[in-house]
Amino acid sequence: MELSCSVCSELYVPEAHVVSTPCGHMFHNDCIRQWLERSKTCPDCRASCISTKLIKMHFNVTAHLARPTSQRNNADAVPMESLMDNITIKLSELEDALRRIEQKTEQSNDKQDVLSVTVHGLVDEIRMQNTVINDLENKMDLCTVGLGDFLTNILDSS
Ligand SMILES: [Zn+2]
Ligand SMILES: [Zn+2]
Repeated sequence: MELSCSVCSELYVPEAHVVSTPCGHMFHNDCIRQWLERSKTCPDCRASCISTKLIKMHFNVTAHLARPTSQRNNADAVPMESLMDNITIKLSELEDALRRIEQKTEQSNDKQDVLSVTVHGLVDEIRMQNTVINDLENKMDLCTVGLGDFLTNILDSS
């Protein structure tokens, strides 16, 4: 149950100085005293009232207000918790994504390694083939020279 002062429309806080009129209506002490300076009647029911007749109210505020306060805290805590849950879920999703990216990076690193090994192998092979070709060219040259000599010898002898 939430009680409010009908003069200022504000809810009573636990430490509020609340008074009751003889007609049984409750107001802030300051609110009703200011009101009674202008009008000697209750703001709620217009029953005649003077400030000396006001009675200070004593609420058992710990029992009365503790529960709504904790309920209010709980109400605040629920969206906060679900917010935290959402953040945790988003975080774990991000972590998963990051892990996948890391795996892919690792895989592509592996592939790059394999590729560079392959490229190195190919380069070596090309180099060897070049050597072989050079050898063959040298031999061809030698053969050409030999053939020339041979032909020269034949022509000379005839
Ligand atoms: Zn008030
Ligand atoms: Zn009244």
